[in-house]
Amino acid sequence: MDTLSHACFSYLVCRTTRAAKSPRMGLVAAATAVLPDLDFLIIPALPDLARFAFHRGPSHSLFIALIIGFLLGGLLHRWLNLSWVRSSLLITVAWISHLLLDMCTGFGVALLWPITHARFSFDLLFVVDLLASLLELEAGPEFTDHPKQWSPDLWPICDVCFGHSQRHHKRLSS
Ligand SMILES: [Zn+2]
Repeated sequence: MDTLSHACFSYLVCRTTRAAKSPRMGLVAAATAVLPDLDFLIIPALPDLARFAFHRGPSHSLFIALIIGFLLGGLLHRWLNLSWVRSSLLITVAWISHLLLDMCTGFGVALLWPITHARFSFDLLFVVDLLASLLELEAGPEFTDHPKQWSPDLWPICDVCFGHSQRHHKRLSS
């Protein structure tokens, strides 16, 4: 999926599950969800045959999600004013949200690397799916028990990404 979708989806997942208890933590989750696709930076250094297999490979594994969550959570926990465990949980949930969204595409992810290189996929979406991105932005507040308390955190992002979303939400709530 595209970077915007990953960032928005992670924000939604972490805010609705309360892994991110504030908009600031939600933005950390959004930024974290962009990181797994940085594997493309390594790809040019790989042999031709390994290139295709590497993208959505190790960086899209549950085991790597746990390791990165632990390490990055430890690095950020003071800045986030959270315990190491809570900070690790936030990073891990954000990372896993990326894996789940990529699993919705036909390419799938190497979810259980290094145990297996098999790709896991639900094959529901295109790699770049504007409709899915819009649905994330529009439908997100409906999936929380506290839409009025929660939605103002999201709408600044919507303003930046899709300005019409905020106007649409106000129209619905008035
Ligand atoms: Zn990815």
